[in-house]
Amino acid sequence: YKVFDVAEIRKDFPILHQTIHGKPLVYFDNAATTQKPQSVIQALSDYYNEINANIHRGIHTLAERATAEYEATREISRQFINASSTEEIIFTRGTTEGINLVAATFGKSLKAGDEVLVTTMEHHSNIVPWQMLCEEKGATLKPIPINDAGEVILEEYEKLLSEKTKIVAIVYVSNSLGTINPVKQMIDMAHQHGATVLIDGAQASAHLEINVQDLDCDFYVFSSHKLYGPTGVGVLYGKKALLEAMPPYQGGGEMIKDVSFTRTTYNELPYKFEAGTPNIADTVAFKKALEYINEIGKPVISEYEHELLTYATESLQEINGLRIVGTAKEKISIVSFIVKGIHHQDIGIILDTQGIAVRTGHHCTQPLMNRFEIPGTSRASFAMYNTKEEIDKLVKGLHKVIKMFA
Ligand code: PMP
Repeated sequence: YKVFDVAEIRKDFPILHQTIHGKPLVYFDNAATTQKPQSVIQALSDYYNEINANIHRGIHTLAERATAEYEATREISRQFINASSTEEIIFTRGTTEGINLVAATFGKSLKAGDEVLVTTMEHHSNIVPWQMLCEEKGATLKPIPINDAGEVILEEYEKLLSEKTKIVAIVYVSNSLGTINPVKQMIDMAHQHGATVLIDGAQASAHLEINVQDLDCDFYVFSSHKLYGPTGVGVLYGKKALLEAMPPYQGGGEMIKDVSFTRTTYNELPYKFEAGTPNIADTVAFKKALEYINEIGKPVISEYEHELLTYATESLQEINGLRIVGTAKEKISIVSFIVKGIHHQDIGIILDTQGIAVRTGHHCTQPLMNRFEIPGTSRASFAMYNTKEEIDKLVKGLHKVIKMFA
């Protein structure tokens, strides 16, 4: 890997070099979506300028080029999570669609009385599809309890597992707390009870090295836009045998082998789950995002981000009246906090006037907020292009907020 130089990295992200309300932008909303390097932005216009054609069906040169580019992203996505075959890599619109796809297809096998387990810290997108499925099937959705630090209580999880457990859906890294869940162990525990496991990798994938074969998860989902890539693209990984046994998701072109009015046969993997013209341009550009990450190296990125996390945690803890929500031992670079007597929305608005972008609210994890008996938090989430100087600005900004409300 190259020597990590944040100043050099920042040069690759044009959006960072602007002022907001007259102040240099400090972008701390990376858990919502990351900014895009120039190579990704360039790839989008290159695609439309030079390559654009529909994929898979054409025999002309542009169609072949577009198909090759699209399939190259599938291969680099496979490598990125160490799946054994590109047949196991299905392109979706994002994490949300990946989960809905599994709930709507694999979920068909659920029966009344079956149980689906999720953790208390799930994003709504890893709760609601299962809730809808359980309602339809007469199955039950059960939350796995967490402790006050925001960690799954494994003894409670063990108690919830039984022959009734059919699906366990777990977030690898909490978008609200930053907690890294011990998913490998949790997958193993679920498998001992015959359950199938889906891992929500939306937050984990940009920060941790992902190895789906080592984890032994049955499904793994993530989004391009949280990985420095374009919006509207995601990946669903599934074990081949499971994907083969599952019915298709949507019907249409591309997902078929032969169609007649009496009978349709379906295409082979992964195309069986990719009906219609996909988001070709964004998928093609996503390759540049993965190449960008690979060039710098995940371990290097993680190490730097962990430095930012430690620095931010120590700095924020010194602020009177501020409490960090989510103090797990294993965390990625997310700091959620509340300030005594000040509504999170006010914090967000005042920080914005200083050019600082943080997220405020429940972060699509209302059951988690209920667990902590709070309406929401302010959340600063760091990416590889953030700096300690920016964290200093956040601390200064928060002192200003507190002074205004004193
Ligand atoms: N799960 C987690 C943990 C997330 O952070 C997010 C995005 N906030 C999602 C799922 C949903 O991802 P998307 O909106 O890209 O479908």
